[in-house]
Amino acid sequence: MKRIIALFAITLVAASSLVPISNAADNKKADDTKPVRILFVLGSPPFHDIRTLPPILEKVLDQVGGFQVTRLEPPKDKPPDDPEHMLKLADIKRSDYDVLVFYTSRYELNELQERALTQFLEDGGGIVGIHGASLSFPKSKVWMRLLGAQFTGHIPGTHPLNIVIADPKHPITAGVEPFTITDEEYKHKFADVDRHVLGRFRERPPSSDQNANMDIIWTREVGKGRVFYCALGHGKDAWENPSWQKLIVQGILWAASRPREVQIPKTETK
Ligand SMILES: [Zn+2]
Repeated sequence: MKRIIALFAITLVAASSLVPISNAADNKKADDTKPVRILFVLGSPPFHDIRTLPPILEKVLDQVGGFQVTRLEPPKDKPPDDPEHMLKLADIKRSDYDVLVFYTSRYELNELQERALTQFLEDGGGIVGIHGASLSFPKSKVWMRLLGAQFTGHIPGTHPLNIVIADPKHPITAGVEPFTITDEEYKHKFADVDRHVLGRFRERPPSSDQNANMDIIWTREVGKGRVFYCALGHGKDAWENPSWQKLIVQGILWAASRPREVQIPKTETK
């Protein structure tokens, strides 16, 4: 445990020292001089690759500029679903981070962690849930209410999926056209809370349940805080999709209460 805390502290220091050079001139308002402080919470059985996917998004955030990313992840010599680092969630404070980004699956939350995450939101923090975030803490009713839903399943494999934008006027969908992405077609059961839907499947793959709810991208407001969830993001196909990247980056900015449209740099082709 001691070693994990030490590693975490080193990451923090390293991330802080990068602040001045990570601000790009573009996409920045005069009053937004401080970087958006992100805690990237990672951990999952190997079906979600928490080692190679996060750097794809981190590179985009670095290119867009104005973000300071710290990872909360299992040590490299431990399995990707090692649970010990997740205990740190009980110590999360609004003064330390602006947004918590979850790419996690199949953990449990204890009451202290649930309380800390709820308080973080009520104090004006943001939570962004990517894909497996809705199956991160299946036993936690608190998490289900914060996120707005819980994963219930998908047909095997990934599929070309057509996404329609339900609210094109929202800052998160600014400049995002309807798009196609290769991904899993998640299904959810929903908590009895308000959700503002930003995106839906146009249809599900033929072998799936056509009557299932089509919502896959939405926001919530909790206290002074904001939640953004995007069910897309299973693998490399999704993480490298420019529409997905734009939604996630603009979702992080909105969750930080600093909404703005960003331009996603084109990936160089070799
Ligand atoms: Zn998946």
